[in-house]
Amino acid sequence: MNIREALIPVGSPVGRGGQPLEPQGLVLHATADYEATAQDIRDYWARLRSPNRANAHLIADWTEVVECVPWEPGKCEKAWHAGEPANSRFIGIELCQSRDKAKADAAYRNWVAAAATVLRAYGWPADRDHVWTHRRVSQELGGTTHTDPDGYLAEIGKSVDQAIDDIGEALKAMAQPQQPQPTAGLTPILHGPTATLEQARAWWQAKCAQGFEDMPERVWHIAPLYGIDPAFTLSQIAHETGFCKFGGDVKPEQNNFGGIGATGGVPGASFPDRDTGVHAVCQHEYAYACDRPLPPWAAKVDPRFDLVKRASSPYVEWLGHADNPNGAGWAWPGQGYGAAIVRLMREMAAVQAPSPVDVAAIRAQAIADVRAAVERALQGVT
Ligand SMILES: [Zn+2]
Repeated sequence: MNIREALIPVGSPVGRGGQPLEPQGLVLHATADYEATAQDIRDYWARLRSPNRANAHLIADWTEVVECVPWEPGKCEKAWHAGEPANSRFIGIELCQSRDKAKADAAYRNWVAAAATVLRAYGWPADRDHVWTHRRVSQELGGTTHTDPDGYLAEIGKSVDQAIDDIGEALKAMAQPQQPQPTAGLTPILHGPTATLEQARAWWQAKCAQGFEDMPERVWHIAPLYGIDPAFTLSQIAHETGFCKFGGDVKPEQNNFGGIGATGGVPGASFPDRDTGVHAVCQHEYAYACDRPLPPWAAKVDPRFDLVKRASSPYVEWLGHADNPNGAGWAWPGQGYGAAIVRLMREMAAVQAPSPVDVAAIRAQAIADVRAAVERALQGVT
């Protein structure tokens, strides 16, 4: 399910208002207009003029989901779908209706997926606090009298309870980490660690600027929270900063380890501490690697996150503009940029470093030693 952006223009007397909204949940609707597609409904709303405006954030039909009013965290605007006070509280999602069973089922699946996408983006569960229907708004909040989507759901053999369950299932499926399809010879950014922390330490500390010996620990704590290979993040930091020697536009005290916003004489972004700087690099990498929203716990600290062409570079090799098939990239022109980082990753993974301390083995040995000592002592007593 892809959401296609087809925003209704803002501006009087056009229907979309443009007021920001901090939503608390979503309202499920059905259009009551059989066989009209999402685009048809969107175009109808775009023709309406204030004060007769009507619109919702998303419309699902049998082939796609159309975004009419911005709904994403940080960009959400108020839509006119369920009267007041609900419009000032909720995101609206419309289900297109069809008498053709295959189309009705496909639209229902897209509608469920759209609702789950919204819940996931805001970190909301699929429960009755966060998933409302227009009918429930009419009954409990007022300001409107519509009773959708209950009647149409019944017509297609569904119910509101089932829809909320189905949205919950879709949400669960989305929570599974998605790895990019491995492509021969390319190095995925979203991946488990391809080197151990011990290898990273030995590799990094032989080359890093004095005072930055702690970077491997920071990266190994933070990158995996985003599903990112920490060996990649540390290698990119090494490449961008010259192992934190910072010879270019960025100064060490900026904690900007990825050259974020720094180009030709412009010093770029600054971060209050090293961990925040590492989060910013990881968020920027994440923006290139996938099109999912940031994890719900993550405060957005990368000031350029929203400027990235999302999911344009799931592979390290594609991070240079010149090497990227999607017309985007971290580095400009960047020919060989990703390949240089991959070379650093290989160097790190080839380091001979002591394997992690085997705590379980040490504990087992200690217990055996104590047992033996106790037995010896007991033999001495008796
Ligand atoms: Zn409605």
